[in-house]
Amino acid sequence: MQTTQSPAIPEMANGNRRTIPNYNPATMEVIDHVPVFTAAEVDALVKRARKASKDWAALSLKERSRYLKRLQKVIVKRKDEIVHTICEETGKTEMDGILEVFTVCEHLNFTAKKGPSVLKPQKRSTGVFLNKAAYTNFQPLGVVGVISPWNYPFILTAGPVVQALMAGNTVVVKPSEVTPATTLKLRELATEAGIPEDVLLVATGDGPTGGAIVEHPDTDLICFTGSTATGRKIGEICGRMLKPAILELGGKDPMVVFADANLERAANAAIWGGYSNSGQTCISVERVLVEDKIHDKFVQIVADRLKEMKQGMRHEHPSLGSMTFEKQVHIVTEHLEEARQKGANHIMEGGRHGDFQGLFMKPAIVTEVTSEMKIWKEETFGPVIAVQRFQSEDEAINLANGTTYGLNASVWTKNKKKAKRVARSIHSGAICINDVEANYIMSHLPFGGVKESGIGRVHGLEGLRSFTNMQAVLRDRFGMKKELWWFPYSESRLKLFRRVINILFG
Ligand code: NAD
Repeated sequence: MQTTQSPAIPEMANGNRRTIPNYNPATMEVIDHVPVFTAAEVDALVKRARKASKDWAALSLKERSRYLKRLQKVIVKRKDEIVHTICEETGKTEMDGILEVFTVCEHLNFTAKKGPSVLKPQKRSTGVFLNKAAYTNFQPLGVVGVISPWNYPFILTAGPVVQALMAGNTVVVKPSEVTPATTLKLRELATEAGIPEDVLLVATGDGPTGGAIVEHPDTDLICFTGSTATGRKIGEICGRMLKPAILELGGKDPMVVFADANLERAANAAIWGGYSNSGQTCISVERVLVEDKIHDKFVQIVADRLKEMKQGMRHEHPSLGSMTFEKQVHIVTEHLEEARQKGANHIMEGGRHGDFQGLFMKPAIVTEVTSEMKIWKEETFGPVIAVQRFQSEDEAINLANGTTYGLNASVWTKNKKKAKRVARSIHSGAICINDVEANYIMSHLPFGGVKESGIGRVHGLEGLRSFTNMQAVLRDRFGMKKELWWFPYSESRLKLFRRVINILFG
């Protein structure tokens, strides 16, 4: 695995430097060690990215789009190798790996195709001012710092990188210390696509390396994906520095299932939404709210299907792989244990899987959960769904909104009016009706959270433009000697404005 980027920075040769082992969590074998970039090394990367930003920003939108189309071709050609790298360091199944590649291709395709029209100057109305013309420029910001987590190392690095590049910025990325190889692979792919070397730079390392990017006076935007706790720290620093930040944080997504739902589809969705990628998805189904009348039947269907699900090593093509991060195994275990102590019913026990050496956890279903339990209010991020029953629509909405998070949600009913009504009442960045998580791959839809799930949007027109300075431009059309509101002021002018207000707005 390539862990350096040329020209190598001098400190890289220092034998005493700190490194982090990268290991395969399904086998616990160490794959490699990656260097921890110091603040001085981050500074060197930001300077290189700054220097490169002038030429990159000067390219036309079509030229940048051509680079991205070439990157897309390289990704398609080398997809198996990318899946291998992702799976090696995450322990996820090959299907979950290929879904990462598929998602990146869909967003890359959108960004390269639509980028030029979304980012070209856009005419705006001047309202009552017929003597003026107005438009917006979408200017590159400069150097974007992208900081990403470990659960989808390809999607959550390539996604923001591609949007930042299309918008004319250069990028310094800090991948998660748990999954650095996929980001290093991305840089390799970008190089093959001909993207200039200093346009995309990678700083491997842990929290302090990310902190150095955030605190650097010459990074112009931080696009962070990760936990709410880290997002809060980054938000505080960016607030102090008045640096824009897009914060894509945690979730505790509710799935609301009414008695008139297509039960088969809803149960299958709960299983995929709750357990794919071992539940380590920011928009995974963590809380299932089921109308009382169908509660027991629904839980039974989910449990029966789960019992048939194959879990195992990648080459066996299972549906469930291993967890990625040991710390997460402890959090999941703690939530299951606390729920047990507080009287919840573990329909499927879950917990560490004894048949494997790696970080495998069995799927769990927990019912008779109360809103005070951690398993209901804190992000579990594992192969677990917590179930509560409800009697009325109002109760379902209150339960769904009853956490500090607001990322994704889903509502299940055949009644379209009810579905739309409930969707409007749930506080979340996105909601699916009779579907689960699929909004994430719809490249025209903006994505992001409310409440403690984050600030700002990626994806779609709004996301792409978040990586720019939306500069408003006003042009005078007729060159009159002066405007009516310029000096000198007089009583007659005041009267004129009173009349104009009455005529135009009265
Ligand atoms: P994390 O917050 O621990 O780490 C995320 C990244 O931030 C890592 O690269 C880490 O090294 C870096 N980091 C840590 N401390 C830092 C600091 N002080 N300054 C700068 N960078 C720092 O999160 P994680 O455990 O890697 O990821 C899991 C979390 O990410 C979950 O909460 C999940 O819901 C969330 N997530 C959100 C989305 C979304 O789009 N909303 C997507 C995926 C994951």
